[in-house]
Amino acid sequence: MNFLEERIVKDGVVKSGNVLKVDSFLNHQMDISLMEEIGREFKRRFGHKQVDKVVTIEASGIGIAAFVAKEFGVPLVFAKKSKSINIDGDMFVAEVESFTHKNKNQVIVSRKFLHEGEHILIIDDFLANGCALQGLISIADSAGAIVEGCGIVIEKGFQIGGRVIRNMGYHVESLAIIDAMDAETGNITFREQ
Ligand code: 5GP
Repeated sequence: MNFLEERIVKDGVVKSGNVLKVDSFLNHQMDISLMEEIGREFKRRFGHKQVDKVVTIEASGIGIAAFVAKEFGVPLVFAKKSKSINIDGDMFVAEVESFTHKNKNQVIVSRKFLHEGEHILIIDDFLANGCALQGLISIADSAGAIVEGCGIVIEKGFQIGGRVIRNMGYHVESLAIIDAMDAETGNITFREQ
């Protein structure tokens, strides 16, 4: 087991509805030493690529992506969730369905912060059905930016997102892939990587 898998087994809580709670160390209370290690690990996995910017989606991607951006020495841009229907032309927009909240949000990135020909690394905390990643990829496409890869902290391999995004031809690296989890026993099975 790698450092993240060990932490998930120790402090993660499996909830019903295919939800893993990691709020004691990843996306509510954050273990900063773990964040640093996550940043270094993504640098190790994507360091051979050109990365001009790290891109994520608010809210829980931001903390993690900040440590990745620090490792690469590049800015971090996060897509903002917006309920407004009056989005002006200064924004790239995509629609994203939230896995945890079951609602749809428009997510926006200002045209000021994403440009044609920029090489980006997309980072997020979880990959479930792939809606968040598809939204970010669509924004990158609108900008004419080049997606060098997607770095995910926890992929739920029993949901379709990982397959969909890889089949689209993107390089996805997940630090932990969960193949099965059981809310009754709390058991978590990781994929051998
Ligand atoms: P997707 O868009 O791939 O269906 O879901 C990814 C997004 O939903 C992530 O940005 C994450 O915030 C949230 N998410 C999906 N599954 C889980 C989960 O099991 N636990 C938590 N805490 N968040 C999740």
